[in-house]
Amino acid sequence: MKENVWNTYEEEDLKKIYQLGEDYKIFISNSKTEREVVENSINIIKSYGFRDLREMIEEKKSLVPGDKIYVNNKEKSLALFIIGEEDIEKGMNILGAHIDSPRLDLKATPLYEDTSFAYFDTHYYGGIKKYQWVTLPLALHGVVVKKDGTKVSINIGERETDPVVGITDLLPHLGEKQMKKEASKVIEGEDLDILIGTRPLKKEEEGKEEDLVKNNILKLLKELYKIEEEDFLSAEIEVTPAGKAKDFGLDRSMVMAYGQDDKVCAFTSLKAFLKVGQCKKTTSCILVDKEEIGSVGSTGMQSTFYENAILEIASLLGKKELTSLSRILSNSNMLSSDVNAAYDPLYSDVMDKRNASYFNNGVVFCKYTGSRGKYDSNDANAEYIAKIRNVLDQNNVHFQISELGKVDIGGGGTIAYILANKNVNVIDCGVGVLSMHAPWEVTSKSDIYEAYKCYKAFLKDMD
Ligand code: MN
Ligand code: MN
Repeated sequence: MKENVWNTYEEEDLKKIYQLGEDYKIFISNSKTEREVVENSINIIKSYGFRDLREMIEEKKSLVPGDKIYVNNKEKSLALFIIGEEDIEKGMNILGAHIDSPRLDLKATPLYEDTSFAYFDTHYYGGIKKYQWVTLPLALHGVVVKKDGTKVSINIGERETDPVVGITDLLPHLGEKQMKKEASKVIEGEDLDILIGTRPLKKEEEGKEEDLVKNNILKLLKELYKIEEEDFLSAEIEVTPAGKAKDFGLDRSMVMAYGQDDKVCAFTSLKAFLKVGQCKKTTSCILVDKEEIGSVGSTGMQSTFYENAILEIASLLGKKELTSLSRILSNSNMLSSDVNAAYDPLYSDVMDKRNASYFNNGVVFCKYTGSRGKYDSNDANAEYIAKIRNVLDQNNVHFQISELGKVDIGGGGTIAYILANKNVNVIDCGVGVLSMHAPWEVTSKSDIYEAYKCYKAFLKDMD
C-alpha cells in the first residue's frame, strides 16, 4: 500500500474532490440504466455544441479540427468525438466505459397473480448474488414501446412520493431449511419476483371474475401510462435499487450508489473528455451497453457501430480509403475505463496484497484482467504502459497497478480486449470499488478525483 492520497492534498484539491463527489452523486442518481445515461449525457453534451453524426452525413458536411460529433446507437450506447489538429490517421486518444450494470429485467410476460398477490417475474442481468436483492426498496426504469412506435418512459420508485416495489424473504423463524442451503441457492433466480400489489378490482368492474389484483394493476397501468398487458412484449423494464447515491462514512470520504460499475468511470470519462475539449489528437469517449453480459449485441462493444462511426468520420474528413480505418485504429491509444475490485480487509484471502488495488491510492491500472493464467485478457504492452506512466507523472496523477484477485481464484473481463483485438493500444484503468455488483457499491471520492485527473491527462498528453 502506498501513502494515503488524502495526505497529499491542499485545501484547493479538497474543495475540488468534494465538488466532484456532489456532481457525481447527482449524475449517478439520475442515470441508473444505460438508456438514462445516454439520455442525460446527450442533454449535457448538447450545450457543448456536439452535433449528431447522422445530420452531418446528410448535410455532407466536411469536418474540421474542433468539430464535436456524437453517435447515439439505439438509445443505449454513445460515441463522442472531438476532431483534433493532427491527421486522424495518426490515431485517436479514446476513453471507453460501460453504462450497463447488474440488475433484474422484467420478462416478456411478467405479470401474474398468486394468492391475491400481483407480481412481476424477472430474469437477472449480469453477475449478481441473488440473495442480496431481497427485502430492498426497488425501482422500475425503462420503456414500453407500443405497436405504433409510441414510447412510454417508466420511472417508478425514485421520487420522494413514489411507491417502491420489492422481493420478499422468509422469516428466520421458519428459515431453518433455507439457512442450510449454499449461498447461490438461498434465493434462486425464479424466486426473484417483484411484489407489486395486493388490492383487488371490484368484481363488478369491467366484468372480470378472477385475477382481480393483477387486473387492478393493469387498470392502473392503463390509466397512468396507456399501456395494455400485451405491450410488455415490447418493453425493456429494468429493476434497480430505489434511492439516491449518498455520502458514505462518517467522514464523507466515500460514495455509496447503485451501478458504480461502471458509471463511476463513465461519469469521470465524460467529464474529463468535455473539460479537455479539442486536442492535438482526435479524442473520443465511448459509453457502451452490455459489458456485463459479454459486450454482445448491437449496442455492446463487439458491435461494429464504433468502427462504422470512425469510418463515417474519416470519410467526412476526406479519407475515403479503407486503409484509413486500419491506420486510425492501429495508431490509437485507449483507456478501457472500468472499475477494479479494491482490497477489502474483511475478505483479504482472495487478494494478493502486493498486487491489489487500495482505496485512496489513486486510479487503478490493470495490465490484464481475464482469469486463471491471463486467459481472455488483453495484456497491455509494456511500451504503452511506460508512456502512460510518463504522462501521469507529468500531471501529478496518483495511480496504482493491480491484479483482479489471486491468480487461481477468479477474474473478470472488460471491454479492453475488444479494441485491443483491432490493434488499438489498450489498458484497463478505473476506480477501485468495494461490494462490486452488489445493489449498493462503495467508492472513494479521492479515487474518483484521481481517475478524472488521469483521464484528462491521457486525452491531452498521450502521443
Ligand atoms: Mn465493469
Ligand atoms: Mn461488472
